[in-house]
Amino acid sequence: AKHEARGRALVFTDRDAENLSRVRRMEHALLTADLDKEIHILLQPQFDIALNRTTGFEVLARWRSPILGDVSPVEFIPLAERMGVISKITQAVLRKALSVSARLPKTVRLSVNLSAQDLGSTTAMEAIAKLVQEAGKPCRIDFEITETAVMGDIARAHEGLLALLALGSRIALDDFGTGHSSLTHVQKLPLDRIKVDRSFVNEVTSDPTSRAIIKTTLDLCRNLGISCVFEGIETEQQLDALLGLGGTVMQGYLFGRPMSEDKAVEHLKGEGAG
Ligand code: C2E
Ligand code: CA
Ligand code: CA
Ligand code: CA
Repeated sequence: AKHEARGRALVFTDRDAENLSRVRRMEHALLTADLDKEIHILLQPQFDIALNRTTGFEVLARWRSPILGDVSPVEFIPLAERMGVISKITQAVLRKALSVSARLPKTVRLSVNLSAQDLGSTTAMEAIAKLVQEAGKPCRIDFEITETAVMGDIARAHEGLLALLALGSRIALDDFGTGHSSLTHVQKLPLDRIKVDRSFVNEVTSDPTSRAIIKTTLDLCRNLGISCVFEGIETEQQLDALLGLGGTVMQGYLFGRPMSEDKAVEHLKGEGAG
């Protein structure tokens, strides 16, 4: 059986050929894309239980390619990183987020995801800071970073983040608890919040280890005086469990799917906050 498995891995199948040509076509479509036109954003509510309102939205990129149709960020973000065009996408996303934020109440913030190449590049971080600065005050744009994103050069990442903090942005450490996020970064980076990964929320009702990790993370945040956000809440049971452990800021399908700008405005009006 071992021999067979090894043999199979070496055979280049039709399926492999198909995937390869899809990647090639995607690379081509990405390199020739008019990003300002083809990239758009959806907004997913972040609900604060203590304040009983939506205090912000995560900004999620979508790509509608005239060649390929809709491509998931799970596919095109890593590809854009490999091809060195992610910073263009980040900036397109940020420009859109800034224009949306002008339509939202001043108490509502938007969180934009940064990638490794943004944090590792002084030029990219300066371009991001410039966009935030030009949008004027009060600043309502926050950023999410992952460990993979800071692994390259933590000192440079730190410097770029301080510039954003100085402009009034807050920094969240995303996907906390996964291999991509760890205590070194909590220690070394100027963070305002931690986002607990969906995998822990998924298991909060069934797995004592996940509950223990969540409890410890909430303690950590409390002791550091930073906030803790939970992502991927889908059921009332998960919400109840998180509330029981002391969680307050929630993001997930239970509170709202990623939605268009117009829907986000309506969503806030429905709460009486708009
Ligand atoms: P992420 O930063 O962890 O974003 C959360 C993902 O979880 C989003 O997927 C969101 O739609 C999904 N999600 C939210 N609530 C639920 C839920 O209750 N259940 C389930 N099953 N899923 C939920 P999405 O939009 O497909 O994005 C996937 C990933 O792509 C993001 O993960 C992020 O890493 C990356 N991404 C998206 N937009 C951007 C961007 O503008 N820049 C960068 N660098 N990365 C981005
Ligand atoms: Ca994120
Ligand atoms: Ca996340
Ligand atoms: Ca995640």
